[in-house]
Order: sequence, then C-alpha cells, then structure tokens
Amino acid sequence: MAAVSAPDLDAQVNQVLAEVRTEIDVARRHRVFCMRNLRMDQVEMIGFDMDYTLALYHQAHMERLSIDLTLGKLIGGRGYPEEIRGLHYDPQWAIRGLMVDRHLGNVFKMDRHSHVGRCYHGTRKLTPDERKQAYRNEKINLSSDRYEWIDTLFGLPEVVMYITLVDWLERRGPVAEGGLDKLFGDIRLSIDEAHRDDTLKSVIKQALPEYIVKDPDLAETLHKLRSSGKKLFLLTNSLFDYTDVVMKYLLDGARTPYPSWRNYFDVVIVGGQKPVFFNEQRPFVAIDPATGKQLPGEVKSFGRDKVYQGGNVVSFEQMSGIRGENVLYIGDHIYGDILRLRKAYMWRTALVIQELEGELALGERLDGQLRDLELLDRRRRNLESEIDFQGLRLKRMQRLLDDANAQAAAEPPAAMLAPGLRQRLEETKRQTKASLDSLRDRARLMAEEVEMLEDATERAFNSNWGSVLREGNENSRFGEQVGDYADLYTSRVSNFLSYSPLRYFRAPRRAMPHEM
Ligand code: IMP
Ligand code: MG
Repeated sequence: MAAVSAPDLDAQVNQVLAEVRTEIDVARRHRVFCMRNLRMDQVEMIGFDMDYTLALYHQAHMERLSIDLTLGKLIGGRGYPEEIRGLHYDPQWAIRGLMVDRHLGNVFKMDRHSHVGRCYHGTRKLTPDERKQAYRNEKINLSSDRYEWIDTLFGLPEVVMYITLVDWLERRGPVAEGGLDKLFGDIRLSIDEAHRDDTLKSVIKQALPEYIVKDPDLAETLHKLRSSGKKLFLLTNSLFDYTDVVMKYLLDGARTPYPSWRNYFDVVIVGGQKPVFFNEQRPFVAIDPATGKQLPGEVKSFGRDKVYQGGNVVSFEQMSGIRGENVLYIGDHIYGDILRLRKAYMWRTALVIQELEGELALGERLDGQLRDLELLDRRRRNLESEIDFQGLRLKRMQRLLDDANAQAAAEPPAAMLAPGLRQRLEETKRQTKASLDSLRDRARLMAEEVEMLEDATERAFNSNWGSVLREGNENSRFGEQVGDYADLYTSRVSNFLSYSPLRYFRAPRRAMPHEM
C-alpha cells in the first residue's frame, strides 16, 4: 500500500475535524434529531418522498390555493351558494395533528394518552365543561369514520374550511341530522378532486416559485450521500408529469455532474400509492420518461434510465437486493410514509416536519420565558408538597385533640392530656392553619402566574393550539407518534448536509420518572 504523505494526512485529519466541528455547530433548528439509534454507515439505500419532503411548500400560498379551488368545487359541483366564497378563511388557524369530529362539528387536539385537550366547535372554543361533556363519558374510537386525523400539511385547508363553514351553516338556522358530517364529506371530496383532476397541480406548475420552496442545499445534500456510496431512490405518490416538473425545478442545473434530477437517483418510482405500496402486491410498470407513457412488459429489474409507477415493497426489496435495516426512507406523512414500514418491514425511517424549523426558532427566542416557566412550575410543585405536608400535620393534631376530648368525656374519664400540652397543641394547630392558608394563597397566585406564562408561550406557537408537538405538559398525540414511528426527525432534508453520511445517530437516554 502506498504511504500517505504527511501533508495529505494533515489535510485528511483537518477535513475530519472540520466535519466534526460543523456537526457540533449545527444550529438547533437545522439539526437531525434521533429517537432510535441509527448507524448511517449501515444504510445502503436512502429513499425520499417528494411532496413536503424534498419539495417543501410555501404553506400559506398552498392553503390559499387549496381553499379557493375547493370553494370552486363546492359551489360549482355540490350546490353550495356563492356567498361562501366571501367568508374569511384564516390560514393560520389550524396545525398538523388535529382531530376532526364530523358528527359534532368539533376540532380538537389530543395529548399522548389520546385525552382531548383544547377543543373548538366551529371557531368557538369550548369551555372545559362542554369539552368534558362531549368527550369524557365514553372512550373515543379514533378509528371510526366519525373522526378524521389531520397528519399531513395537505390536510390543513380542510380543517380551516370546515370550522368556517360549520359557523356559516349554523348561522343559517338549525342544521339537519348528519348535516355537519356531510359538510366535512363534501369538503373532503372536493379537495380530493382538486388533487386528482389536476386543478391544483396545473396552477402550481405555472407558478412554481410561488408554491415550492427551492432549497439551495438540496442538491449538495443528495450529492454528499451519493458520494459516500449510498444508493438513492425517489418514491412519491405524485404522478410522473407533476413529479418531473417539480423535481426539475428543485434540482436541474444545480450541479454539473447531474444534468437531470433523475441522475441523483438509482430508482425513480412515481404514483406509488403509499400506503398501498407497503400493503398490497401491485406490479411495477415502466414509464417512458420522454413521453410519460406506460411501456409494455413486465418489470423484472430496475434500470437507472427508467421511471416506474405503482409497485410494492416486496418486489422493491427483491429487485434492489437491499432490505430491512439497510434502507432509510425519509417522508413527511406518518400514516402514508412511515407507519407500515416500521410495523412490518424494518426499514429505518426519518420524518420531515416542516413546522419544526419555525417552532425551534421560536423556542430559541422564548428561551428565557421557557426557563422562567420551568422554574415557576418547579416552585409550584414544591409548594404543593409543602401544603400536603402541613395539611397532614393539621389533621394529625386535630385527631390528637379529638381523641383527648373523647377520653375526657368518657365515663369514667380516661387518661387526659396535661393542660400545658393541650394548650401547646391548640396553639400549634392555629399556627399551622394560618401558615396553610397563606401557602394556599401563594400556590393559587403561582398557579395563575404559571397559567398566564404558559398561555402566552403557547399562543406564540399558534394562538389556538400551541405547539404541534406538545399539548400542555405532555407530548401531543402527533408528537408521540413521531417518537413511536420515526427513528429520526428533522425540518428539511438538507439538514443532513451538516452530518457525516457515516454518522452514528444516537438517541438520548430517556429517563423514567423513578430515575429523575
Ligand atoms: P408524496 O408526498 O410525494 O407521496 O405525494 C403526495 C401526493 O398526494 C401529491 O401528489 C398530492 O397532490 C397528493 N394528495 C394529497 N392529498 C390528497 C388527497 O386528498 N387526494 C388525492 N391526492 C392527494
Ligand atoms: Mg409527502
């Protein structure tokens, strides 16, 4: 083996050190977070979803467009009056991870125990009593048709339209039985149609910069992964014509060795119909990239110059020769992209949570406030323990005095407390009671302060719902699912650029309450 010259060695060492340095310096909002240990050196193939993963959307524009087109379909195709176009649909209103109750016209957010936290009927927030009445008496069957889980950013416009139109419908008079359920169904069908019949995509294709975020580091990230010897593939539910336009916009011309976006990928699969891709055995069909037309014949192996449509995970593993733990799939949709892979196929998974970047930036800005909140909360807990202790003392003294009184009243009188001792007990009891009252006052004030601070912090995230990943002191149901199903999560694919492609991502050690 040829000896490495000293300057070369120095250069290599410096490069390694520079990489380590960059990893340490990564700003929180650009980090890749790890839930389960993942050794990137053992990942041989990395798959990418397209929409909301490689292609992030300008959410406010996308929502405005989805709402406008869905209104058009409700009015034009489902008999809704023109007046609904004039209502105010607030694009900031919803967040990911909400649950829609189609029977009652409610929208709520749950914590990790699937306990209903905040809840709105239309745009009106329910009082705690109303909420308890609606959801506390029976176990909620979240898999029933009554509930719709909004876990992709494509779903937010549906929620905004639903709450606005629930208000509108109820303002017009009593709503017929099943009317609120039908309203959601109409919105769902209309938005579904807008996605399928090209109404939505034809507008986006004409104005890509308005709707799609062009990440300047994406090409470099994919190149870095490829250079480390990994194979890359694209697996999207979008069809070829749309995928081609979007991917061209994102990648073509970004790096000389890759004249076309397809050069970055070893396999390109469009129209994957996830989660069906992971559940059923549909065949792959080949598409001619020049014409977008289907090519005849059975697909028996993958070629780099082809594009495939449909398919299934079993054939994919057979034809690529790579399986299970050696594949990492990066997507944005827990249900469509991730859940099945974790449950049945052992693929490693990373979830792109576009909102995370904003939430982390806000977290950094609110750092002082969050620390105050934590401190105040800890003090409140201490105060509550003190109140418990003083309350017990008071009870114990009262019992001693009651026993003594009972014995004194007995015939013949039994042992009596020495007079000095009784006096001391009475005095201590009075003092304990007074201090307990003052402790309770302090606790009440502190609880109010905690609540105010909590409220202000939550409002900074979203004025109706707070943070996407948290609900009160718990993970939100969505946050919990991220932890259950994703090995890694991050706000955008290009965040991987700051890490070595051989990185050993390690999950933080999670303590149980008894260890804290
Ligand atoms: P992916 O995230 O790259 O797998 O692709 C998501 C695809 O699903 C995009 O083409 C969306 O237009 C499409 N999509 C999102 N929501 C709906 C819907 O409600 N009905 C039909 N297609 C949808
Ligand atoms: Mg997606």
